[in-house]
Amino acid sequence: MTILDGKKVSNDIKDEIAVEVKKMKAKGEKVPHLAAIIVGNDGASLTYVGSKVKACERVGFESTLVQMSNTTSEVELLDKIKELNENPEIDGFIVQLPLPPQINEQKVLLAVNPDKDVDGFHPANFGKMALDMSTFIPATPFGILELLDRYGVETKGKHTVVIGRSHIVGRPMSILMGRKGFPGNSTVTLTHSHTKNITQITSQADIIISALGVPNFLKAEMIKDDAVIVDVGITRVTDETKPRGYKIVGDVDFANVSKKASYITPVPGGVGPMTIAMLLKNTLLARERHNQ
Ligand code: NAP
Repeated sequence: MTILDGKKVSNDIKDEIAVEVKKMKAKGEKVPHLAAIIVGNDGASLTYVGSKVKACERVGFESTLVQMSNTTSEVELLDKIKELNENPEIDGFIVQLPLPPQINEQKVLLAVNPDKDVDGFHPANFGKMALDMSTFIPATPFGILELLDRYGVETKGKHTVVIGRSHIVGRPMSILMGRKGFPGNSTVTLTHSHTKNITQITSQADIIISALGVPNFLKAEMIKDDAVIVDVGITRVTDETKPRGYKIVGDVDFANVSKKASYITPVPGGVGPMTIAMLLKNTLLARERHNQ
């Protein structure tokens, strides 16, 4: 069994990006600049955004954090997005999800200039992805592809089962694994909460990508020998023995599933760090495109 070490690979990618940034600086070019908008004080969201800002520093990007209160109106947020769309200093930006209930998420995603949409959530970018055109691929699916690629995991002709059909992970993942190319060329089954007999489906899978957010959902008896397991789940579970009072748990019963799997991502240290690395990669791409 091989651990798909997202922590290590993400550090490799960050080192590669840092080299590119140094080259930009040496040529007197502007370095990539990522902005993040966060609305409200959700603990997990603040942690994610904090890690993104730290990652920018690590690779030599400029970063801007826009913090807005929990009572921010939709109009105020849309105004802020317009400002970032029009600011030539900003190459790419993200709006951290989830948003408070008074704000329509779809309206917000549509307001982001697709050329700066480094999360790849705008329908124009999502459509390009589905059509195999060059675009920003959403960071989590992009990170999973990169991990499979760097470990040389064969996907061609394999049966990939994706659990969860969210717009940010499951659905794009199902499209990307089925597209022509590597990683891709898989036969894909997309499952969700209405899927019947899920064990029957997962037990036929060569590759399982689990993104549902239910701790220890995927058990050893649900997979076949030598399956490749990618665990996207991140759930905070109370744990008084930890200084923060919680621990992070994935969707996969790692202790038992890892005994049967050929490759497996740990949680933490698997898909999570890859997501941040690929957000940086998309921002670098945005900068390069703006240069052209
Ligand atoms: P989400 O929007 O919460 O949706 C969950 C999906 O799982 C839905 O499609 C749902 O089906 C499906 N589902 C729920 N219970 C199920 C069951 N018993 N059997 C089969 N499918 C079931 O998902 P998300 O935003 O993609 O997040 C999923 C997990 O990944 C969360 O733990 C999240 O924190 C984590 N995540 C991690 C990263 C990372 O960087 N590692 C990034 C994003 C998300 P329906 O559509 O029918 O409701």
